[in-house]
Amino acid sequence: AQRLFEPLRQFAEKFTSIQSGFTAVERISDLLDEPIEIRDAESPISINSLEAIDGQPQVGEIQFDRVWFAYRDDDYVLRNLDFTIRPGEKVALVGPTGAGKSSIIRLLCRLYEPSSGRILIDGIDIRDIPQAQLRRYLGVILQDGFLFAGDVKSNITLGEDYSMAQIYAAAKQTNIDRFIEDLPQGYDTQLRERGTNLSGGQKQLLAFARAAIRNPRVLVLDEATASLDVGTEALIQDALDRLLADRTAIVIAHRLSTIRNVDRILVLKRGQLVESGNHEELLGQGGLYASLYQLQMLGN
Ligand code: ADP
Repeated sequence: AQRLFEPLRQFAEKFTSIQSGFTAVERISDLLDEPIEIRDAESPISINSLEAIDGQPQVGEIQFDRVWFAYRDDDYVLRNLDFTIRPGEKVALVGPTGAGKSSIIRLLCRLYEPSSGRILIDGIDIRDIPQAQLRRYLGVILQDGFLFAGDVKSNITLGEDYSMAQIYAAAKQTNIDRFIEDLPQGYDTQLRERGTNLSGGQKQLLAFARAAIRNPRVLVLDEATASLDVGTEALIQDALDRLLADRTAIVIAHRLSTIRNVDRILVLKRGQLVESGNHEELLGQGGLYASLYQLQMLGN
């Protein structure tokens, strides 16, 4: 924790360039407190070129192949993770704080490298994929999608070259269009830093729009922990359903009530995958998931 502040300051400077790839980065301290330098392989394989070679479209399959990971020394926080997420499958990562959920996402985004084992996307080791392409392929939405002081439009495009038609479409798809139109200057309205002129729910929708416009094959969502304003809750669920449709999705779930409908829940405990199945199956097993779920139900 004593390292937190300085890396955060350093990171803030690098932040814009990284962010333009990885959709929204609010929990910077959490996700990227020690950004490390990762270089492209000598001759990275482009996913598109692979598509050209064997005629396979980008399908969105993710495989962790016996992945071990330690931030330092042999203090392993991920232990022999071995699972495959099928194209289009919606998977939730569940487990107590510190179980390794965020670390999995950091490795998938290649912010860190596994100590051993491999991570494959559509059968390709991510070390062989150019980073720019990996960032296009993965849309990452973090809690409280980071907004910067700038207009609404550029908070969606992050300065990349999208037409107004694409911006409107992304906003509409994610139910934020009406809110934007109600702002004094619409899409040109200046947002205050951290978006203090928007509600929590509106910020979340804007983060969705930012991901939607990039149309990534795989969407990673770190679900908001704080309960959102009642007014936008239904809009968020609706936007999310649309955003996840036709993509592979990985959700870090904090409120277990929201993941009843995912295809599969991966339950982690101290870096190990201890249970896997859908909501009903896991409840029936009466294991860690069932007890976490019961605890939350009592608390709510
Ligand atoms: P979760 O997202 O499930 O709460 P994390 O992946 O954040 O879990 O953390 C897994 C383990 O890794 C925890 O023990 C945590 O303290 C440790 N950890 C997380 N980030 C770092 C880091 N940057 N450096 C060292 N240890 C870390």
